[in-house]
Amino acid sequence: MPPNRLPGLAMVRDDGEGCAFCGHGTVIKRQEELAFHQWTDRGYVFCKVSVPTAVCERCGSKSWDDAAEAIIEEAVRRELEKLR
Ligand SMILES: [Zn+2]
Repeated sequence: MPPNRLPGLAMVRDDGEGCAFCGHGTVIKRQEELAFHQWTDRGYVFCKVSVPTAVCERCGSKSWDDAAEAIIEEAVRRELEKLR
């Protein structure tokens, strides 16, 4: 027997990529400001970057693809340059 669905839930799933966590949510890509501290061998660096983030509308889980992670790594490297 199929599980009961909440009204409207079936509409959430379209041909886009679904959420890998809850399996139902629509994943929206958006630019998100990310501010973080990173510990390095030269001390703490503070980074603030804008990265393309995939956010699930249903459960709110966030994920970054390789391109986003490259942007984050680049930002850390830039901050390290300033410390020299
Ligand atoms: Zn989800």
